[in-house]
Amino acid sequence: MSVFAECTLIRNRDGPFHDRTLRHGHGSVYKHLHEATEDCKIILMILLQFTSRRLVSHVCRLTNSVSRQRSLVEMARPSSDMAEFRQIFAKAKHIAVITGAGVSAESGVPTFRGAGGYWRKWQSQDLATPEAFSRNPSRVWEFYHYRREVMLTKNPNPAHLAIAECEARLSKQGRTVIVITQNIDELHKRAGSKHMWEIHGSLFKTRCITCGNVTENHNSPICPALEGKGAPDPDTDDARIPVENLPRCEENGCNGLLRPHVVWFGETLDSNVLTQVEEQLEMCDLCLVVGTSSIVYPAAMFAPQVAARGVPVAEFNMETTPATTRFRFHFQGPCGLTLPPALARHDSEIIS
Ligand SMILES: [Zn+2]
Repeated sequence: MSVFAECTLIRNRDGPFHDRTLRHGHGSVYKHLHEATEDCKIILMILLQFTSRRLVSHVCRLTNSVSRQRSLVEMARPSSDMAEFRQIFAKAKHIAVITGAGVSAESGVPTFRGAGGYWRKWQSQDLATPEAFSRNPSRVWEFYHYRREVMLTKNPNPAHLAIAECEARLSKQGRTVIVITQNIDELHKRAGSKHMWEIHGSLFKTRCITCGNVTENHNSPICPALEGKGAPDPDTDDARIPVENLPRCEENGCNGLLRPHVVWFGETLDSNVLTQVEEQLEMCDLCLVVGTSSIVYPAAMFAPQVAARGVPVAEFNMETTPATTRFRFHFQGPCGLTLPPALARHDSEIIS
């Protein structure tokens, strides 16, 4: 199938890829990728992982440049030369930082995924769904109440702080640092980052299922009925809170049921947020991928787009992945150790 046929096919899909597809569909996708040619790998990877029609049409333009970039991509092997990275960092005017679960993990934030990642008998993918919420809103609210309360005991780590400090410092030099994160814990915000896109929403925002109103909410507990509830032990009984006592909308007497303003499995990302993220990525002249593998969403959605423009991409992660070779730099290890020296003040920076 030609590139443009692929593009048309995907453009005609009304529903963009959703979270579950991206998280659970890797096996078959990468089996096919393995069998594809190098060109096809790049094209398929980008096409399969973009979510909005606008992004896909952009990819169609990008694929024209893929062949030109191919020799560069194939030749490049990721460097871990910090001095070389620092030279590029010193000249960058608009730096995009894409962050994932690894950054939160270094602050001890539980994800309730993978081995041992349980809340009671369930994992995130069992409770973070619209179906689970409509079936048992009390249980889902207990889960999110617990996660909100846990965050009272967690703090930004050196990686969060290095990003925020870099943004503040570079802004005085007319340079920008923006953060695109899948993390919902607001640790970037607490560290002091200002220009952020939380593409999965936030634990500390609610959305009314009746009127759609989105509100920031840091109350602890979020409502009286949830006080002392949400214990994670597997033998804890459900609180079975009546729906009228769960968090309710206070907008103009609406009183609708509130839900966490987070993107659940089976839901699509906000297209307005994606459009803004795309604009930022088109402007950036340096991209950092931190605490998330570059073949896993969301970095896989964005980083290849940036790399295909020839913009340097630097990965800071605990491990390498097959996609690592597509990027200019890879710095292995805890990002709380690797990121602060990478983003520290450069000798060439002039601060008035
Ligand atoms: Zn409402």
